[in-house]
Amino acid sequence: MSPAQLMHGPPVANAILARAAERAGEFEKRQGRKPCLATVLVGDDPASHTYVRMKANRAEKVGVESRRHLLPPGTTTGELVALLEGLSADETVDGILLQHPVPAHVDERRGFEAIAPAKDVDGVTMHSYAAMSFGHPGFVSCTPGGILRLLDAYDVDLAGLHAVVVGRSPILGKPVGMLLLARDCTVTYCHSKTRDLPAVVATGDVVVAAVGRPELIRGEWIKPGAVVVDAGYNPGNVGDVDFAGAAERARLITPVPGGVGPMTIAMLLHNTVRAAEMTQNV
Ligand code: NAP
Repeated sequence: MSPAQLMHGPPVANAILARAAERAGEFEKRQGRKPCLATVLVGDDPASHTYVRMKANRAEKVGVESRRHLLPPGTTTGELVALLEGLSADETVDGILLQHPVPAHVDERRGFEAIAPAKDVDGVTMHSYAAMSFGHPGFVSCTPGGILRLLDAYDVDLAGLHAVVVGRSPILGKPVGMLLLARDCTVTYCHSKTRDLPAVVATGDVVVAAVGRPELIRGEWIKPGAVVVDAGYNPGNVGDVDFAGAAERARLITPVPGGVGPMTIAMLLHNTVRAAEMTQNV
């Protein structure tokens, strides 16, 4: 099998961002203000600070105002919830992102649920998850939504394929499986208790790696001709898939970096502009 074709995130993400920028400009003309994304970060995790900074910089480049709220590590759940409820009620804020993870003593779910569904541009609330699962309008979480956009950009005909999703986190594994199901894949979820992971992965026409373990998915597990999406991002720019090995067998594969990562921010800003438009019934 010849090496796989790469599914490059940046060109697809840039097209989404360019459209978001146009729509943000139109919103500003109509409304006299830019769409606004509030980001909330609790604690001093360096990776989270980097992610939030990247999101804020990107927001400003597409004409979305970014308001950053940096809370100290000792912030209580009550203080976080109060801030998020205030942002939910603030008419000048269109989208809210609570950066995951929060420190262990904070109840992250209570934080997420304090975000108004109409401003849940990161798709983290139970309301958004349920709406996505039922196929109702709502915000889809950004990385899963971005993965589907990338597969569409590379014309992957998903109907009837067996999709194996490795990982079942509420922000990534579970929703991406639901989106693939909605597109008529037959979906299998794998997790830390799955028996014989290599054998299950080997049955996947589509494999989505969302684990957070460097190169856990070995190239020799991949079914020849499969489509491989690596959402993992580990220190040293390493994904969850053994890229070199998997690229020998797959038909299509995402590189790390330059695959799924750029799609996440693009979807966040797309959703923020959409949230702003919805306040005007556009
Ligand atoms: P997470 O919450 O830690 O979830 C990891 C999942 O992997 C869990 O469901 C866990 O199973 C499963 N798992 C762990 N070890 C396993 C093993 N040996 N075999 C099979 N399954 C195993 O992680 P996450 O937040 O979903 O993130 C996953 C990866 O995606 C990370 O590398 C993260 O950096 C990356 N990520 C990237 C983006 C992006 O924008 N590109 C966005 C979000 C996350 P259990 O449920 O049984 O514990």
